[in-house]
Amino acid sequence: VDVLIVGGGVVGNSIAFHLTERGVRPTVVDKGFPLSGTSGSTQAWIWVHTKTPGFYGELSLISADLYQYTLAPRLPGIEYTRTGGLALLLGEGEMEGARTLADAQRAHGIEIELLGPDELRRLEPNLSPSIAGATFSPQDGNVNPFQLVRRLMEEARRQGTSYRFYERVLAIREAGRGRTTRRFEVHTDRGVFRAQHLVLAAGIWTPELADHLSVPIPVRPVRGQILITEPLRPVLGHTLNFMRQMSNGEILFGYSHEEADRDRQNTGDILSKTAARGLHVLPLLRGVRVVRAFAGLRPMPADGLPILGEVPGHPGLFVAVMHSGYTLAPLVGTVMAELLIDGKSSIPIGSFSPSRFQAAD
Ligand SMILES: Cc1cc2nc3c(=O)[nH]c(=O)nc-3n(C[C@H](O)[C@H](O)[C@H](O)COP(=O)(O)OP(=O)(O)OC[C@H]3O[C@@H](n4cnc5c(N)ncnc54)[C@H](O)[C@@H]3O)c2cc1C
Repeated sequence: VDVLIVGGGVVGNSIAFHLTERGVRPTVVDKGFPLSGTSGSTQAWIWVHTKTPGFYGELSLISADLYQYTLAPRLPGIEYTRTGGLALLLGEGEMEGARTLADAQRAHGIEIELLGPDELRRLEPNLSPSIAGATFSPQDGNVNPFQLVRRLMEEARRQGTSYRFYERVLAIREAGRGRTTRRFEVHTDRGVFRAQHLVLAAGIWTPELADHLSVPIPVRPVRGQILITEPLRPVLGHTLNFMRQMSNGEILFGYSHEEADRDRQNTGDILSKTAARGLHVLPLLRGVRVVRAFAGLRPMPADGLPILGEVPGHPGLFVAVMHSGYTLAPLVGTVMAELLIDGKSSIPIGSFSPSRFQAAD
């Protein structure tokens, strides 16, 4: 194959979709079924205003704009909604930090306002009166993760992407460096691919795949646990930094960041803390039934920033792994397709290069 993508989550599928939009027909291989990784156990906020101010915040905004103006019109049905986002000020003394954040984000073109308790209540009357305020941005929103990945796959497949599910990559070898020979041999439990370009988009599993080529990709899993309630009448219009009401009326909320290796079990202590925070923020949840809980593993790069681009010293080998894969999916798909096809990207993403860890190694 010309381009082999390992990983059929939101990142691998966005890259496949954007490649097919430009006439390339990649193959995607995944050890499980679509959304069996982190992309199926997520919150999927398309979130901008509390991202690290500067380049990372700007990229999140560009990606949110790609949803709004390019991807959502191109892929009807993904349920991207720009609800506006509220980051609640729950602790003592958070107002000062919020002011600093607002100044920094405004300097980079991100719309952000500081709300006191009354303005917050005007936007969301059901929130607890004890909440001191919030930062607000009209540029935040969310997407339906299942519909997004379904639609990306549908379009990618229609335009020639091949999918191989339940096929696990076991080993990768660099076969040769010529332009005509296939550079990579990718051994799976069902055979061998020979690929000219290889994209590792395998979320938390990317490090062990890159390890076959001795490329350091330091990513660790960070667990998050989520609760979902029974459907309610509309009670919440905006996306809060840890809660939202979905279009079917269910409230989805969670905030935990836990070091738990690859354990995707829910735990009683975190679920009760999550429920307590939910009640504190939205008192009408008292007596409402929780109908489902799940846990997911965020792929967290060592320095928190995306790892994106071709690996120096390994022509044809690309890596795409990050937390906030939903927020960044359209941007990552666009720039990775550019790198693969044009050899350069329209946005300078050199600071996200995998080379930063090679140097450290
Ligand atoms: C609780 C929680 C909340 C989150 N909230 C948000 C949010 O609000 N906004 C946001 O933008 N992001 C959020 N994220 C992060 C986001 O979900 C991830 O960044 C994104 O899903 C990563 O997608 P991916 O395609 O890189 O990984 P995955 O979806 O994990 O896909 C990787 C795929 O690679 C496959 N694979 C692995 N090893 C192999 C192998 N050897 N052979 C073949 N296939 C292999 C796996 O089967 C898997 O399907 C959240 C995550 C969690 C857990």
